[in-house]
Amino acid sequence: MSELSLAYIFHQQQLLVDHHFQLPRVESLASDLQMNTGDRVIARDLLEDEPIPKGLQLVPIRQLLTLWDTQQFEHASRAIQLLEWRKNHKFCSHCGHQTHIHPSEYAMICPSCRYHQYPRVQPCVITIITRGNDEILLAKNAKNKTNMYGLIAGFVEVGETLEEAVRRETLEEVGLKVKNIQYLASQPWPFPSNLMLAFRAEYASGEIELQEEEISDAEFFKFDQLPEIPFKGSIAYAMIKHVIEGTPVADDTQKWL
Ligand SMILES: [Zn+2]
Repeated sequence: MSELSLAYIFHQQQLLVDHHFQLPRVESLASDLQMNTGDRVIARDLLEDEPIPKGLQLVPIRQLLTLWDTQQFEHASRAIQLLEWRKNHKFCSHCGHQTHIHPSEYAMICPSCRYHQYPRVQPCVITIITRGNDEILLAKNAKNKTNMYGLIAGFVEVGETLEEAVRRETLEEVGLKVKNIQYLASQPWPFPSNLMLAFRAEYASGEIELQEEEISDAEFFKFDQLPEIPFKGSIAYAMIKHVIEGTPVADDTQKWL
């Protein structure tokens, strides 16, 4: 009998785990994505019409963020991003020929023109803006129907520095200018394939003016009068705690605090 592999089996944005939220072991299939971790770890999508195996359950990946440690979550996050990337690169983007899976690297190769396609990461900046010693800016996303207030965030554009992205996003979304931009930490975020880069900045000038398609409300809140904030495990939560309580955003073992 062949050895079993530890399996990341996804169905949409849910992962198959047992009742202790641990990964199952399965027999590997030729179509599995082999995770280059040195041991037997595979990733695949739940097969068409395959029932959920007995003793296992599908759990949203976002929920695992609150149940697992950072490293476990980041492995699952890598697995789903690689699977998505493989599904979306079945053909060469240069000449249109069907691609092959590279035997040892995370790459899709075109047998016709030899073009190699690698997974791409989308850099995103997320910024906590302070005013004085006891206020932070929090904003409500227009698409979010809850009462949760988060931080200013957006994609980095081609040809832009991270600091320029912080200044541009803040100006676009809330009409404010910021100064003293400082890098804090980063977090891979698999929805779909982002790298969140966390910054803090100080309010410099301007009046709050909302970009209404993106932001439905934004205010400076006193530290002791915060509204509902993002959940523990998110980088936004760690950034808010960092500014208010002085805790590190991520410690040396990369655990989110
Ligand atoms: Zn090609």
